[in-house]
Parts: sequence; C-alpha cells; structure tokens
Amino acid sequence: MKTAILGAGVSGLALARFLVEGGLASSDVHLFEAAPSAGGLCASKTVDGFTYDVAGGHILFSKDAEAMAWMKANAGGEAAFVRRDRNTKIRFEDRWVHYPFENGLGDLPPRANYECLAGYVQAWHERQVSGSAAPRDFATWIRWRFGDGIAEHFMDPYNEKIWKRPLSEISSDWVAGRVPDAPVADVLKAAVGLRTEGYTHQAIFYYPRHGGFQAITDGLAAQLAGNLRLSTPVTSLQRAGDGWKVNGEAFDRVVSTLPLTDLPALVEGVPSGVAEAMRGLAFNSILCFLVALDRAEHPDLSWIYLPHPSQGPANRVTYMSNYSPNNAPAGRTSFLCEVTYDGRGAKPAADTEEQVLRGLEHAGLLRREEVLFTDAVHSRHAYVVFDHAYAERRAAALGWLAEVGLTPLGRFGRFEYDNSDACVIKARALAAELLAEAARG
Ligand SMILES: Cc1cc2nc3c(=O)[nH]c(=O)nc-3n(C[C@H](O)[C@H](O)[C@H](O)COP(=O)(O)OP(=O)(O)OC[C@H]3O[C@@H](n4cnc5c(N)ncnc54)[C@H](O)[C@@H]3O)c2cc1C
Repeated sequence: MKTAILGAGVSGLALARFLVEGGLASSDVHLFEAAPSAGGLCASKTVDGFTYDVAGGHILFSKDAEAMAWMKANAGGEAAFVRRDRNTKIRFEDRWVHYPFENGLGDLPPRANYECLAGYVQAWHERQVSGSAAPRDFATWIRWRFGDGIAEHFMDPYNEKIWKRPLSEISSDWVAGRVPDAPVADVLKAAVGLRTEGYTHQAIFYYPRHGGFQAITDGLAAQLAGNLRLSTPVTSLQRAGDGWKVNGEAFDRVVSTLPLTDLPALVEGVPSGVAEAMRGLAFNSILCFLVALDRAEHPDLSWIYLPHPSQGPANRVTYMSNYSPNNAPAGRTSFLCEVTYDGRGAKPAADTEEQVLRGLEHAGLLRREEVLFTDAVHSRHAYVVFDHAYAERRAAALGWLAEVGLTPLGRFGRFEYDNSDACVIKARALAAELLAEAARG
C-alpha cells in the first residue's frame, strides 16, 4: 500500500513511524514536507546559544503514559528529558496571582478580591436557583460561570488578547473539560488566603535537555530519513482510480495533515459548498519571539499570563531558559513572548516587539539593559478558533474527505485543539486502521 503522508509535523512523523513499526514496507511510506526541516509547530530554533520553541513554549505531558513513553523513547529516552514542576502565575499589576485565577483570589488587592469573590458566589447562586444551562456564547458563558468580577479582572481581557475577536463570536463548546471547574468552597478558601490547588493536570511536565521541543520530532525524523521529502510542498491532489495523485505521482492512500483551510487550493474537484466551508474555518496565527537576556537567574516560573492591555500585546511569556539548562548559555536566561493575530488578518504592526518589551517593563518583568537581542518567528496556523460556524464547517469538510477517501489527521488537518501527545495518539489509532486495511489487501 503505497502511502503518502502530507506534512512532517509530529502527526505525519508519528503516523509514518507507526506504519513502519507495524510492518508496512518502509519503501511504501512517503512524507511530503514543504519546509526544509521536519517538526511543524513542534519546531525549535537556536540563535547564539539560545534555544526556543518557534510556535510558543511547548511542554511534554499526557494522560496517556504509553504515548508519552513512546515520544520520549524516540527522542533519546528518559535521560534525554528534564522533569519540571509546572509553576504558572498570572501577573496582576505588581503581584503574582496563583493559576487558575479563581484559586488565587487571595493574592489580589482587597477590592479586586472582593469583586471577584462576590461575583463568583452570585453566579454560583444564580446557577443553583435557576438551574440554567451553559450559555452558547463564550462572553455570556464567562459571566454565567465566573461572575462579573473575574470576567472584568481576568477572563475578558485575557481571552480578548488571545482570541482577537469579540468573545460573543466564540462558542462556549470548546471550554468543556478545558477550563477548570473549581468548587465554590475552594474559591472561598482561596479568597481568604487558604491555598487550594485547582488545577493538578500538567503539575509535572517534561522537556528535552537539548535542542528544544523539536528534539522529539527530530528523534522521529531521524528514523525516517529515507521516507522524508523535505522542501517538497504539495501543490496538487487529484483522484486517480481508488487512490490519489500527489504532485502527479500515484498513491494508494493519502493522509493529509495540511490545514483544511488550504485544501481547496490544492485538491481538484472540491464542491463549492465544501470549499467554502473549508476556507471559512477560523484560526489564529502567532508571532513568537525570543528575548535573550543578560540575566543570570529567573524566578522559578514555567510561564505567566499577562491579561491586561497595559502589560503589552503578549498574552503569555514562557521562562524558556527554565525549561532546560541548555536553552541558554551559562549565566544567561531568556523569555519567549507570544502574540496571536487573526489568521486572515494583517500581520501585527512592525512595532509589536517594541510594544511587548515596553509591556514587560511596565509589568516589572524586564529591564531594557538586560536585553541582548530578540528573534521572531511567525506561524500561520496556531489556534483553532471555535466560532459559531465551526462545527458545521468542519463536519462538511470532514464528511466530503471521507467520501473521497482522503484521510485527514493532525491539529489543522482535522481542525482540533490537540496537543502533540493527542496527535501521536490519533496517529497511532489511524496507523492501526491502515495496517488492518493493508492486511486485508
Ligand atoms: C502556542 C502553542 C502552544 C502549544 N503548546 C503545546 C504544548 O505545550 N505541548 C504540546 O504537546 N503541544 C502544544 N501545542 C500543540 C502542538 O504544537 C501541535 O499539536 C502539533 O505540533 C501539531 O502537529 P501536526 O503535525 O498536527 O501539525 P503541524 O505541526 O502544523 O504540521 C503540519 C506540517 O505540514 C506542513 N505543510 C503545510 N502545508 C504544506 C504543503 N502544501 N505541502 C507540504 N507540507 C505542508 C507544515 O510545514 C508542517 O510541517 C501548542 C501549539 C501552539 C500553537
């Protein structure tokens, strides 16, 4: 079964590895990758001894121990990883607030603490009395779930920064299971200063000792040297009998991890309604930039959230040099700043970097004389945006792909909010299906 896998991010690489491990002839597995190296969103970059993850700080964690062990084993084994305690905070004026915010109310100034607590209790009470169902739009959902105080002090400004559109345009469906649901007793305790944890998921994470997060995809790619066609963008996909032609070459089976939004331009014969659905799927892009610092030590933080406009346009800053001692030269440290923008909008203004640095100075996190240099990378597809048309558009896209036998996989191949471990888990499941199919002939 001659198989083409489009895209050599972690999804495409993992699928190729599982197919070969499962017995498919290596010579039948072909990976097309537009970029000169594999990795996709898991890629990292090293500049003058400073290493950073180009699509935002990445950590390895998973509820699926087998998938995580497989990722580590493919990248040098346990010894090649640093084990870290997650320590994340929200910067609120000149204070550090425990994350998640509702478990950190006691860290706030008294008035904000009171407003957040009063709103939380009121919202909780209203839900008890009315038994109201979760509102469908995210803006209303935030107030229904957290109350006015937390909405105004944290949830609204933070989410507006990251999603770059009115929150009423976003569906609340995606929050289920993603936003922690703190019991009211925990929030009351937190407000009077009794520490409650709130979010034990990802309490511990792993990170490659050398080479940034990309060490994981490098490890996979190293075993696929004969299968990888780098710097080979897919420019056309045509049906040919039961299979497909990729750039004119025939394959029995094609698996695409390319963004669904890009397929109408590549695939011949997409019906206009399906093409419109694919093109209409909303996403955000990201500008990530490294700030190399002449600073010997950072506080023991993993990453921080910057909710307020006065803190500049970055929504999140990763303490990149804390992830691995090899992410910065000895005696130096680094930040990684993330700024999102609408995937169909203009790139952020030329002075964005300057605004971010000013914001960090204002937040008391940086002194200008510490900055050695910065280095920036844009990633076009970074976040799936769950607007109200998402479910319908995605169903139209995936439905048609199933009909024509073009198999989608990956974060933007299926438009799902997946981390790299979920990509591996889904690649493993798809490989099992394809191997069974190959065995049946
Ligand atoms: C800000 C941010 C933070 C994240 N944090 C974490 C984290 O902490 N932990 C974690 O596990 N995950 C994290 N993720 C998610 C993780 O990056 C993704 O789940 C994963 O990298 C997606 O892999 P993929 O292979 O599905 O897609 P991609 O990595 O997007 O791979 C698709 C590949 O297709 C290639 N391609 C595109 N068009 C063409 C074409 N026409 N022809 C050929 N090739 C093409 C691209 O170059 C790319 O290599 C984060 C993501 C973001 C954006």
